[in-house]
Amino acid sequence: QGSNHLQVFDDLESEVRSYCRSFPTKFQRASGYQLWDVEGRPYIDFFAGAGALNYGHNPPEMKKTLIEYLLKDGISHSLDMATEAKEHFLSKFNEVILKPRGLNYKVMFPGPTGTNAVESALKLARKVTGRQTVMSFTNAFHGMTLGSLAVTGNKFKRRGAGVPLNHAVSMPYDGYMGNEVNTLDYIESFLNDSGSGISLPAAVIVETLQGEGGINVASNEWLIGLADLCKRYDMLLIVDDVQMGCGRTGHFFSFERCGIVPDIVCMSKSIGGYGLPMAITLMKPELDLWEPGEHNGTFRGNNLAFITAAGALDYWKNSQFQLEIEANAELIRSVLAGIVLSLPDLNGELRGLGMMQGIAFQSGIAERISAIAFERGLILETSGTDSEVIKIMPPLTIQRAGLELGLRILTGCIYDAAV
Ligand code: PMP
Repeated sequence: QGSNHLQVFDDLESEVRSYCRSFPTKFQRASGYQLWDVEGRPYIDFFAGAGALNYGHNPPEMKKTLIEYLLKDGISHSLDMATEAKEHFLSKFNEVILKPRGLNYKVMFPGPTGTNAVESALKLARKVTGRQTVMSFTNAFHGMTLGSLAVTGNKFKRRGAGVPLNHAVSMPYDGYMGNEVNTLDYIESFLNDSGSGISLPAAVIVETLQGEGGINVASNEWLIGLADLCKRYDMLLIVDDVQMGCGRTGHFFSFERCGIVPDIVCMSKSIGGYGLPMAITLMKPELDLWEPGEHNGTFRGNNLAFITAAGALDYWKNSQFQLEIEANAELIRSVLAGIVLSLPDLNGELRGLGMMQGIAFQSGIAERISAIAFERGLILETSGTDSEVIKIMPPLTIQRAGLELGLRILTGCIYDAAV
């Protein structure tokens, strides 16, 4: 289906392309939780731009504001210049997000991508502490540049490029050594043992829930323990909220569930609100030791993204949105739990939090489910080192009917993939 639509891509685009292989059609337009291809076929989106479309495709209010801004000849690109659009985003972010949570951070615009936010956090931690290594975790995903890739726990992504781990220390994530082992004890003994060869890291970078790594959820206790370890050993705590931030796990920041306050927070994907490229790095004010121009990048002043990013914050002005996320999350969880229970031979394992949930299967099954889902009009990604986990990640704003229909299609796909 649709293979003739892809000739130009086959001929001209690099072999590195991947999503067009798992979703082999040419897409044309999108609205809310749906996409349509060039043949007019609709698809329910359980992928949401890998977390960049938490508010859905072309959310009407943001679209309207953006069009009005463009019609007024609003500035689109301004590097680091002070603009009205940036001012509006900064003050609204402070009023709607930081202040009500009692958080005090300075905001840096590190460049347009999540990788840029991570890279800036690693550099800042090294600069502030004067130390060089950064502790990261098994199965972590932090980005594709040399620094962020070095803290990414995935050999496939690193191997071909020969990216060394020599400024990273990889440690076992919560649950990696089985549920009986508290990996923090293990990590602490490594830090204390001169025989481990580890020098004290500048920082620890962590996802509170590993999205790309297979929907691995760190427990609240583990995260609190990790924050405490960082304090005791004078390491900065960096939370990478690029994928799990902006409400994906049920709170605006993923770390709110356990009450820790990171020193540095990386955000991107849905922070721009409309799928427009934007990233921010939040740092405790006393860490803002950057000198002017020490970290820059041409596209860190995307005013179109500032406009929609400010619009997206309206969702967070009251608690209603969070309640809707909770209700959706509950529905997803109950359907997935029912599937796992009714297909015991598949040995599926339910994973996730909020609207980031999935089921881990034995090798090959998740990819089969994703392929069948595509045929039936459902966009569903897999994650994990072996693509062994199906990832249910619809826009947070998905309507109930769309979510129910998507979950019905998904259930059928899993049953059919099981035989
Ligand atoms: N950190 C995390 C947790 C991510 O999930 C991603 C992207 N999947 C990144 C960083 C990198 O973001 P980007 O692709 O925008 O560079």
